[in-house]
Amino acid sequence: MSEQLAENIKKAENYLQRYKDQATGHFINGKSDSGSEGRTFENVTPVDNSSLGQVVEGTAEDIDKACTAAEEAFTDWSRLSGKERKKVLHRFADLIVVRAEEIAMVESMDCGQPIRFMKAAAIRGSENFRFFADKAPEAANGQSLHQDEHLNYTKRTAIGPVGVITPWNTPFMLATWKIAPALAAGCTVVHKPAEFSPLSAMILAEVSKEAGLPDGVWNTVNGFGDVAGKKLTEHPAIKAIGFVGETITGSYIIAQGAPTLKRAHVELGGKNPVIVFDDADFDRALDAVVFMIYSLNGQRCTSSSRLFIQNGIKERFLTALKERVSKIRVGHPLDPETEVGPLVHTSHFEKVLSYVDAAKEENATVAVGGEARKDLGSGNYFAPTLFTDASNQMKIAREEIFGPVLTAIAFDNEEEVISMANDTNYGLTGYVWTKDSGRGIRMAEAIEAGMVWVNSENNRNLPSPFGGVKQSGIGRDGGDYSFEFYMETKNICVAHGTHTIPVLGK
Ligand code: NAD
Repeated sequence: MSEQLAENIKKAENYLQRYKDQATGHFINGKSDSGSEGRTFENVTPVDNSSLGQVVEGTAEDIDKACTAAEEAFTDWSRLSGKERKKVLHRFADLIVVRAEEIAMVESMDCGQPIRFMKAAAIRGSENFRFFADKAPEAANGQSLHQDEHLNYTKRTAIGPVGVITPWNTPFMLATWKIAPALAAGCTVVHKPAEFSPLSAMILAEVSKEAGLPDGVWNTVNGFGDVAGKKLTEHPAIKAIGFVGETITGSYIIAQGAPTLKRAHVELGGKNPVIVFDDADFDRALDAVVFMIYSLNGQRCTSSSRLFIQNGIKERFLTALKERVSKIRVGHPLDPETEVGPLVHTSHFEKVLSYVDAAKEENATVAVGGEARKDLGSGNYFAPTLFTDASNQMKIAREEIFGPVLTAIAFDNEEEVISMANDTNYGLTGYVWTKDSGRGIRMAEAIEAGMVWVNSENNRNLPSPFGGVKQSGIGRDGGDYSFEFYMETKNICVAHGTHTIPVLGK
């Protein structure tokens, strides 16, 4: 064990002790809350599946209490000036930076993500707050739309208390990405974190208090999706649900919210293509292909899990790829050297492993990996895996595996690859590598996805729209798109006093 890993483990143990000493509860109306029934569930670390402590299982009553608090806090928070909200949200960002090390370590131990990525995730979380803090004063802005004898202008107002339901893959970053714009818009929030990774959400709740958010503006209820999550989507006080998670769950969210006519924004799964043409910048494309599936344990919605490689460079590219994949460092998530950590949970680990059998059954080649890394102990360690000789019809090319697993498929020409890339239920992202700029544009326009990168891995631009098409989701986050979701637009029409009013009964 390296000195650095030993030191990190020690630090993490200190940060994690409190979750062992006392069950992690909810945060409702500015106070920690141990739940109406006191039932708990065990939270384990993927490092060795040992306990990180108990977590309170939210009930319908707990959700009701949180939603009522959010409803009562809404009027004052939404009426606070944008400038004041901006100040509080900047304080929030500052406090995240102060606790960045703790957040990164807790997150790594809770969901298995390597510390090298989690350090950045904590800072990204604070950037999300800063970005939307700066936008808070302009959130109400609308348009002025002129007619000959009338002036129309629009303004936006916060929609009301909202529910935010997040997954386990990068829980801290995603929670900030969904909640910061809601607060900047003037909404109050009830957050339901994923049951596999509840810890960093409690740090956020504490930061909300310290930053000076009034009681009831931020509420967190832990627990399971089919009880706490479901009740949140059904609660009449909640006007909109921001959801990130699996496609099937997204459809439940919409159905559960329908009787109360809830607005829903669902960011769902993906089976994203990366297309590498013969003329691509070989080294840059290789770096990006490796990064976009093996970073974050492959547990990222935007990962490029289908590699389409043109036949002219196929042999050379796959040879280089195999070498790189076989050298990826799997290990303890707190080891700064680790590139792939353990998968979040044994159930997810089993699911990812099952695709190795699926690949073999359909005669794809397991070119690298394809097995548990038992040599690393009792955690959910899985060897980075590359399937070759695959077709787009195979299960490994159709289903979201959500692990460090890449399926490579050969192609001849543009037309063929567009057809294969789009032959999927999903449509979140696409990536194209070519030095021919015209082809880059043609491909970007032809790929059915909410976001396409040409000659780049996924990079972040906070004002840009983020979201998917087809079964990858409905709605967009980012910049003003987030405000469009969390706010209502009102049109106000004022006459110049010159137009003719139709006369009746005279
Ligand atoms: P999941 O759908 O199983 O769970 C997500 C959240 O929904 C959890 O908090 C869960 O408790 C809750 N939930 C489950 N059933 C519910 C119900 N009936 N009502 C209300 N809430 C319910 O997803 P996951 O396994 O935690 O996350 C992985 C998935 O998230 C992958 O499919 C991934 O692609 C997707 N994801 C998408 C994006 C994106 O931006 N498109 C980003 C990250 C992750």
